[in-house]
Amino acid sequence: MNCYVCNSELTKENETEEHIILNAIGGKLKSRSLICKDCNSKFGSRVDNKLAEQLNPICNLLDVKRDRGKPQNVKATYKNKEILIEPGGKMKLARAYTHEDGKVVHIESATEGQAVKALRGLKRKYPSLNTEELLENAKRKKEYLDSVSISMNFGGKETTRAICKMAVNFFIFNGGDPKYIKQLLPFILGIEEEAEVYFFYPRSELFYKNEKDILHTLLLVGDPNHRYLYVYVELFNEFKMVVYLSKEYDEEPIYESYHYNVITNQVFDYSTPVRIQRKDLKKYSTNELDIKRFQERLKSLLQRIDKITVDRRISEITNKAMEEMIKRYPQEDNPYFTEEMIAFLSERVAVEFVLSFQNRLNTP
Ligand SMILES: [Zn+2]
Repeated sequence: MNCYVCNSELTKENETEEHIILNAIGGKLKSRSLICKDCNSKFGSRVDNKLAEQLNPICNLLDVKRDRGKPQNVKATYKNKEILIEPGGKMKLARAYTHEDGKVVHIESATEGQAVKALRGLKRKYPSLNTEELLENAKRKKEYLDSVSISMNFGGKETTRAICKMAVNFFIFNGGDPKYIKQLLPFILGIEEEAEVYFFYPRSELFYKNEKDILHTLLLVGDPNHRYLYVYVELFNEFKMVVYLSKEYDEEPIYESYHYNVITNQVFDYSTPVRIQRKDLKKYSTNELDIKRFQERLKSLLQRIDKITVDRRISEITNKAMEEMIKRYPQEDNPYFTEEMIAFLSERVAVEFVLSFQNRLNTP
């Protein structure tokens, strides 16, 4: 095997692992027969960073599994306050907020560390302040926020390059002839500004998904009858792109698809092949992001994510309540469920349910 960028032979010394779909967005498929170490370090992360950054809010809400590390916190606003969303959807204040109302000073903070910092600031202003006593008397409060605003963006040159690289990776991974990707390499490398990479807005879904499935999909089709060779890329169900490798393809038919469910962390197989009609390829492809359609897709993705996180929260609550019950009523002393145990369990579950979902009941 040779590096598809510089054509040097891949050996034990210069081979490197390349994720076909970015690992930062939960991609698992990888190969050591794509590019060499040098080329990887030359354009690896530079090409991929923007896409990873743009999709980070989704990765964060879903807490997607990566080989290393976690998705980054997402900045959001809630009632004019800056908050941080941690992977999995937990939120905290980004910093301490101090309100002075006449003689009463009120500090709001996410952690004790933040509170101490804010108190130190106050002490400079009011040296007589007894900060230790104040800390000791601090009230701890859990609050569940109803709706927070986050902003999201998708597209641009760098992102298009990263999508193009995924398509090329998948094509070479499936044994594709490197002559078909030659014209795409200068674009991925940033030497050229244009390539045949399009946003795609099909009328209906190409691959049916269950209500709580979120998939990354790659589809490679070589169709000598219509003389098309393309890769269709679908990330998190809703970010859909098409990369043309050739419009004069006249060799053997090719059909390869790969589907990875980022919720179950499993590869999924669709038994029925999907082919995009030539006229539809053209009709539903655009150069520019269609803002209205993008918002519709984002909305449907966020609704799906919401269902998934509610499910996860419910199982978290019940597991935690079970653990607390077992701690309190060790199994060796309590071989059977007693009424007291059931009462304890239901109380724990009920309290957490109300805390977690009260805002849902309030919203119309
Ligand atoms: Zn190379």
